[in-house]
Amino acid sequence: MELTLSSSYLASLANQFGTPLYVYHAETIAQQFKKITSAFAPLNARIFYACKALTNIHVLQYMRELGCNIDCSSGNEVMLAIHAGFTADKILYTSNGIHFEEIAAVADTGAFINIDSLSNLEKFGQRFGKQYPVGVRLRPNIMAGGHAKIATGHDKSKFGIPVEQLDTLKEIVLRYNIEIKTLHIHTGSDISDAKVFLKGLDFLFELLHQFPDVKVLDLGGGFKVPYHPNEKETDLVALSKALQEALTQHPATRERSLQLWFEPGKFLVSSCGYLISKVNVLKPQGGITIAGIDTGLNHLIRPMMYEAYHHITPLAAAEGKTLKKYMITGNICETDTFAEEMMLPELKEGDLLAIHNAGAYGYEMSSSYNARFRPAEVLVQNDQARLIRRRETMEDLLRNQSGL
Ligand code: PLP
Repeated sequence: MELTLSSSYLASLANQFGTPLYVYHAETIAQQFKKITSAFAPLNARIFYACKALTNIHVLQYMRELGCNIDCSSGNEVMLAIHAGFTADKILYTSNGIHFEEIAAVADTGAFINIDSLSNLEKFGQRFGKQYPVGVRLRPNIMAGGHAKIATGHDKSKFGIPVEQLDTLKEIVLRYNIEIKTLHIHTGSDISDAKVFLKGLDFLFELLHQFPDVKVLDLGGGFKVPYHPNEKETDLVALSKALQEALTQHPATRERSLQLWFEPGKFLVSSCGYLISKVNVLKPQGGITIAGIDTGLNHLIRPMMYEAYHHITPLAAAEGKTLKKYMITGNICETDTFAEEMMLPELKEGDLLAIHNAGAYGYEMSSSYNARFRPAEVLVQNDQARLIRRRETMEDLLRNQSGL
C-alpha cells in the first residue's frame, strides 16, 4: 500500500515531534473530498463530513475551507463545528439515545436536526411544534457494515426509529403538527456492497408518500475505504449513476424536488492519517518475532475493537533486507495486537513503523489508559508540517483531579 507522504519525510516528522505521532496529509483529504463531490455532482447531493471520525479543530477548519458541510453526533461536536467557523446552515446533528435537552440546545443554534426516538420526537413536538422543521432517523432493518459493532441498520439495532413504529411516529407528527423535512438512515460503516445504498433509497421511497413535507433523503455515511491492499474503495461514480437512475425513475421526483444527503467520515479522513510508532522490543518466539511498539489500543483501538486490518509500512530503507515474519503488538497491559502475522523487511529496535488509515476513528477514539499520554497530531499542508495538538503531559493526566 502506497504512502501518500514519503517514508523519509514521515521519519523526519517522527524525529522532530517524537513518537507515537499522528500525521495527517491535508491534500489527501482534499483529494477524497473532490472525488466524492465530483462523483455526486450530477445528483446535486450535499456532503456532510461525519466529524466523529476526527474532530481536531484544524481538520474541521480545513474541511470548511474545502466547502464541505459537517455532520455531528453530539452537542459538543456541534459546538466544535461552530468554533471551526461552520454556520448553522452547514451543520447537521443526528442524535442517538441522548437527553432531550441536548437536542433543544442544538436547536438554539439553528442546525439541521435528525431525531432517532419517538420519545424525543414527542418532546420536540411539544417544544417546537411546526416552528422547527426536523428530520427523523429510521431503522430500516437492513444488515450492512464491515463488523457487527458498526452495523447500525439491522432489526436489533439501537439506532433509529424502527420502521414497524411508523404509525405511532405519524400520530406524533399529526398531534404536534411537526414538519418532517428529512428521512434519514445510516445502515453501517465500512460497507463494501454499494447496492446497500440503493436498497436504502428504495426503503425511503416506499415511505415518501406518507411524508408530504420531506425534501431531503439522507443516506448517511459508511462508504468503504481500502484498509487492506486487496480491498477497493466504493466506486462512487457507479453508485452516483445508479442513484440518479433510481431517482429519475421514481414518480415522487416528478412531484417534488428531492435532495440526497450523505455523511461520509472514513471516506474523507481515513487514508490521510498515519500513526507513526517506534519498535521498542523484539522478541523472537518460535517461527515469528514479536515486535513490541510504543503505542497500543489506547491510541488506535480499531484492530482490537473491530478486528480491523491496518496496513503497516516500515519507514527505514527496505532494500537488501530479508523478509521476516512479525507479530506487531502494543505496549498496553491487554492483548493489543496490531498484526497477528505480517511479513516485513527485517526490523531492529528503534525502527519506525507507519500504521496506515489512522485518520478516521484513530486519535478520536484514543484514551490515556495505563496513564500513557495521547500522541501529538501534525497536519501536513502544502509541504509544511504544523503541530495541531501537542503530546499530552503529566499535567494533562492530573488536570481536573481534586485535592492535589
Ligand atoms: N453518519 C452516522 C449517523 C454515523 O453513525 C456514522 C458512523 O458511525 C457516519 C455517518 C460515518 O460513517 P463512516 O465513517 O463509515 O462514513
